[in-house]
Amino acid sequence: MEKQKLLEFIQTNKPVVLLAPSFPIDFSYPEIISILKWLWCAKVVELTYAAKLINKQYHEHLKNHPEQQRICSNCPTIVQYIKNKFPEHKDKLMPIASPMIIMSRFIKKDYGPETKTLFIWPCLAKKIEAKMTGEVDEAITFKELQELIEYTKIQRTEIDTTKKSDFNDYYSNYTKIYPLAGAVAQTINYKDILKEEQIIICDGIPETNEAIKKMENDTNIKFVDPLSCLWGCIWWPGIISKETTEIKIQKIKAYQEEMKKKAKQWAHIGKLEYGQWLNYKNTFI
Ligand code: SF4
Repeated sequence: MEKQKLLEFIQTNKPVVLLAPSFPIDFSYPEIISILKWLWCAKVVELTYAAKLINKQYHEHLKNHPEQQRICSNCPTIVQYIKNKFPEHKDKLMPIASPMIIMSRFIKKDYGPETKTLFIWPCLAKKIEAKMTGEVDEAITFKELQELIEYTKIQRTEIDTTKKSDFNDYYSNYTKIYPLAGAVAQTINYKDILKEEQIIICDGIPETNEAIKKMENDTNIKFVDPLSCLWGCIWWPGIISKETTEIKIQKIKAYQEEMKKKAKQWAHIGKLEYGQWLNYKNTFI
């Protein structure tokens, strides 16, 4: 979306921002929230809450269908890749919608169907998923957000980051590693349902090919957790930082550590039971 149109979308709709947990690579906390509110966004919630809701669904699905082999469907590039390259395995894609879709559904149920959502994430593939499903009103990358901030500064005075802002309502700490390869397998609490050797974690397309072939040849493999980008969602061109992989991972984990201190204060929000009445169906696969 062109900058002026995006700005008009925000000014008119005062959207709720669904912020991806990879934001600490490019922006600092809590300044990013002040910036988004300065940009006329009404509220800012963390996508990590949807990740927590999804984890519960994955856990239940794997537990209730021990005979099935499943492939994580959170990465839209993987979904399209499996559909095109391995159509015979399309039905193994997890029938549960991605965190972006679940968070948008949740917000529209909770704040009202008229609420507009703006998803901010490093990846262009998510923009396609947002458009194809029609469930997220607008999706932009970190780079586009930075460009919008620069563009808006011409029309508005400097951002007042002394005005303290924080996330609204929904939050989860243990899923802050979701952008990293293997995070779903690491956070779905699988130990009571699967053995480690029944899970394959992979990043990159060649590794995904290999994992699918292993799964074909071994019915004991029950869950493949792939992300199409190496290391996960930290290198897509929608990210501004050119720092090393190690530094990017460190930033995500340091933010998680910092937020642990807030866990007590925020313990009352983002409970699992709030998501009980939600529709989890994946319409993208
Ligand atoms: S792995 Fe890459 S393509 Fe897939 S969701 Fe993450 S950034 Fe997007």
